[in-house]
Amino acid sequence: MASDGRAVDEVDAVVIGAGVVGLAVARSLALAGREVIVLEAENAFGTGTSARNSEVIHAGIYYPTGSLRAQLCVRGKALLYDFCASRGVDHQRCGKLIVATEPGELAALDRLLATAIANGVTDLQRLSAAEARALEPALHCVGALLSPSTGIVDSHGLMLALLGDAQAAGAMLALCSPLLGGRVGPRGIELDVGGDAPMTLRARSVVNSAGLHAPALARRFAGLAGEDVPRDHLAKGCYFTLPGRAPFSRLVYPAPGQSSHLGVHLTLDLGGQARFGPSFEWVDRIDYQVDPAGADAFYAEVRRYWPGLPDGALQPGYAGLRPKISGPGEPAADFRIDGPSRHGVPGLVNLFGIESPGLTSSLAIAERVAEALAG
Ligand SMILES: Cc1cc2nc3c(=O)[nH]c(=O)nc-3n(C[C@H](O)[C@H](O)[C@H](O)COP(=O)(O)OP(=O)(O)OC[C@H]3O[C@@H](n4cnc5c(N)ncnc54)[C@H](O)[C@@H]3O)c2cc1C
Repeated sequence: MASDGRAVDEVDAVVIGAGVVGLAVARSLALAGREVIVLEAENAFGTGTSARNSEVIHAGIYYPTGSLRAQLCVRGKALLYDFCASRGVDHQRCGKLIVATEPGELAALDRLLATAIANGVTDLQRLSAAEARALEPALHCVGALLSPSTGIVDSHGLMLALLGDAQAAGAMLALCSPLLGGRVGPRGIELDVGGDAPMTLRARSVVNSAGLHAPALARRFAGLAGEDVPRDHLAKGCYFTLPGRAPFSRLVYPAPGQSSHLGVHLTLDLGGQARFGPSFEWVDRIDYQVDPAGADAFYAEVRRYWPGLPDGALQPGYAGLRPKISGPGEPAADFRIDGPSRHGVPGLVNLFGIESPGLTSSLAIAERVAEALAG
């Protein structure tokens, strides 16, 4: 019986959310021999932010040294390349150029190079404009950094492989099963699950990996102090695609400016098609519409490094939402993997602010979650 007298099913570990991070966590717990249920609100896995990103395997260049984002990106990248190779997940180590388009931006490349080395990314190469153009003839730049270990991955194929491993080790995925709320009880965490077959579960371990909804959900856990849940914010990123053959074979990113977002960059999908984005806009609700008029700003940004972009070439693509835990004007927040040592609730881990490079870091985040639960 639950603490309020309702019938309750006992389970060892519950993961809330079947995005790339929740699935990686479920896999690692199941492989460690734990009984795992993944609760997913939607009728399919991986329909949230994990399906609305650039699918880039980041090298770990940009993030403040020592931050979780830096550490878990570098570790996650290595784990991800190994995982993709061993499970046949489609991916490509295509490399990326970070370009200065005017002399005033060259210093930013030097700063990035220093940060990358401090983060353990030691394979970057500084290129002259001529060396960069020898690799990518359509490129305009006055200097560049080449990151050979940056790549791209089929995010759906990755999630399918993570789920396959988890299920083979006994994990269960419950679709159309939104978690409504929960409470910390004397014998575990009680969870109220909605959907077609509402039920109450009691779990020894609960991992809140609900992405955009993780903070709101944590606020509905009775027994978790309010000050342990950060304020949540949304920042929308839109993409525009380029029909036909891509003009580049590597990813192209502008040198970073003042803001923490990486600028309108060019990424490639595994079919070789180019897409530009994501833009950056603070929003107050979930809305994935792409306004075709947004293309105007893209032309100017893209032509800084690809002057050959023809008029009218960009087509509205798709949008994603960054699950921010720092708001406008605040310093960019790090990932938060909040375990019992932070909030004092045994068996609970909340994942907050898992924005980019969360896809790259997913397997490394799963390792940290296991440590947080064990510790
Ligand atoms: C525009 C953009 C570009 C990005 N590009 C990259 C990139 O190139 N490389 C990279 O490494 N990272 C990138 N990222 C970051 C990466 O996409 C995310 O970090 C990652 O997908 C987060 O995965 P997740 O599992 O935490 O969240 P999600 O994929 O959002 O999964 C959360 C799941 O929880 C479910 N859920 C929510 N509430 C409940 C509930 N109450 N009960 C049950 N289920 C619930 C949702 O339905 C969803 O399936 C990008 C992000 C954005 C927004």
